[in-house]
Amino acid sequence: MYTLDDTIVAISTPLGTSGIGIVRLSGAEALAIARRLFVPTGRAGRRELAPNRLYHGHIVAPGSGQVVDEVLLSYMRAPHSYTRQDVVEINAHGGPVPLRAILALCLAEGARPAREGEFTLRAFLNGRLDLAQAEAVLDVIRAQTEASLRVAVEQLGGRLSAQVRGMRGELLNILAHLQAAADFPEDEIPALELGPALRQAEARLDELLGEAERGIIYRQGLRVAILGRPNVGKSSLLNALLRTERAIVTPIPGTTRDTLEETLNLQGIPVVVVDTAGIAESDDLVERLGIERSRAAAQRADLVLVVVDGSQPPAPEDAQVAALADGRPAIVVVNKGDLPQVDGYADLLPTAPHVRLSALTGEGLPALEECILELILSGRATASGAPMVSNPRHRDLLRRARDHVAQALAALDEGWPHDLLAIDVTEAVEALGEITGETASEELLETIFGQFCIGK
Ligand code: GDP
Repeated sequence: MYTLDDTIVAISTPLGTSGIGIVRLSGAEALAIARRLFVPTGRAGRRELAPNRLYHGHIVAPGSGQVVDEVLLSYMRAPHSYTRQDVVEINAHGGPVPLRAILALCLAEGARPAREGEFTLRAFLNGRLDLAQAEAVLDVIRAQTEASLRVAVEQLGGRLSAQVRGMRGELLNILAHLQAAADFPEDEIPALELGPALRQAEARLDELLGEAERGIIYRQGLRVAILGRPNVGKSSLLNALLRTERAIVTPIPGTTRDTLEETLNLQGIPVVVVDTAGIAESDDLVERLGIERSRAAAQRADLVLVVVDGSQPPAPEDAQVAALADGRPAIVVVNKGDLPQVDGYADLLPTAPHVRLSALTGEGLPALEECILELILSGRATASGAPMVSNPRHRDLLRRARDHVAQALAALDEGWPHDLLAIDVTEAVEALGEITGETASEELLETIFGQFCIGK
């Protein structure tokens, strides 16, 4: 299915207008194609392109002799390149017309259009990156905050991979031992303390899993829904949050036009805040409260902020809105703290934290932000280091590995035969191999690399 023996080409920068844009070639023919299209400036001849140097020159259409663009060209010789194949990068001017023209010439010279993520796929298939590292490439590109970036860069550097490979190696060791014991029961086999070895693997898996949720939050961010009856100050609260925290300008496609979504950087965590205000004037209470819309927003949120007006006595609608939080992590925001306050909100979601603030003056906002972070990260060790696990796929596989190790331990305790233990240890080895890609199916690779853009 995957071929490595043809030469692929793509525009590797976004198609828009910018200072430069890059057309990238990878494969055995990359250099030959570059030689046919590129005329270096000065004395360097076409045939003299040496690796790891930057050449100034022009892309010239071979048939017509037409100069297409002035470019800088570099050649990285296999295996010292991103894909471990010959790679040529043409730095042209960053407009769709010159880039498409250069791409077309490369195709005419025999390159094939690269598929999504195919450069990174080749890097993976050629062993330059393992699967977890390849996935981290996408996380680096998509990182929304510096904290998310740090997590992704560590994964790209192979920190998680090294841990996973280490554990997999130990489990393989245990497996070899179990199989030898089953095959040659009479022979002298060096004693391996199975119990301690398995328990150690279990402890290390637990350790990684312990920080996974925090890592996933850094990678994926959080959704926070702001709920409340009209005029309590929902929109004012969203605006106040946007003022104090850096708004992230990454356009995240909103799923509904009825709600307003903004992304903030809350101490390194990308937070999408959904404001459910903007509800139509209506005599119908359900419609006026936007109950269905708010319910939907609450259900999709990781955290719900129930906003009330602390200068007014509670209204029956407050309780109705609060009911929409429905067991989700919630904070009651008692707004308009700058005005004389009336009591009476203590019974509203009594188990949720209550924060009094003023969206108008900004007083109390830092306390709300702290409260959000505490609620979200509670129980998820706030160790200063970047979490190693940040991808739900990896978490699920680590869990699977951990569960099989636990089953193997239980079987050991109950004195089951070794070949039954071996089944669970094999499953654990497989699960870990799927993280780094040793045992990844083609289908899995399709799914993972399909998320990339063309040119990556
Ligand atoms: P929403 O309908 O819940 O989105 O409420 P808005 O944000 O539109 O606010 C309704 C009214 O309350 C506006 O006139 C705001 O200026 C006012 N308001 C919002 N927050 C505060 C606050 O903290 N203090 C005071 N005094 N007024 C506020």
